[in-house]
Amino acid sequence: MENYNKIKLSFYSISENESFARVTVASFATRLDPTVEELSDIKTAVSEAVTNCIVHGYRDCIGIITIECEIVDREITITVSDEGVGIPDVNLAMTPMYTTKPEEERSGMGFSFMEIFMDELKVESENGVGTVVTMKKRIM
Ligand code: ATP
Ligand code: MG
Repeated sequence: MENYNKIKLSFYSISENESFARVTVASFATRLDPTVEELSDIKTAVSEAVTNCIVHGYRDCIGIITIECEIVDREITITVSDEGVGIPDVNLAMTPMYTTKPEEERSGMGFSFMEIFMDELKVESENGVGTVVTMKKRIM
């Protein structure tokens, strides 16, 4: 049976939209009755993923970021995608403290935070095509 417990949003990669994305996903997640801490974890993860699309994926341009969220039983799945530059080496990019923008005071901890605050993290990317970040969290 089709799962209707899902949403999809698309928005331009301007920094003003980062809070829009974070708050919208958090609002959707409240139907699972998360604790304040679980909600804060989800917000942090979404914020990191969206910021990456803005500052890395679309580093020299404005593009479209798409977020899809789905709830199945007690689990929320959040997908954040861009059609930006892509990541040449995903394993390297996911290494804690690895950043391609040290001059902009980036600490290279975005993926690490997503990994810590969510139960599952998957990053798929292709050079010149874009990046898809899929995160899952179970709310008990
Ligand atoms: P921080 O998140 O701590 O500010 P950061 O963004 O550099 O620093 P991560 O979020 O862990 O650190 O990302 C690591 C690296 O992966 C980035 O420096 C960038 O090179 C690459 N990256 C991450 N997301 C994307 C994306 N959506 N498109 C292209 N490259 C990305
Ligand atoms: Mg980051």
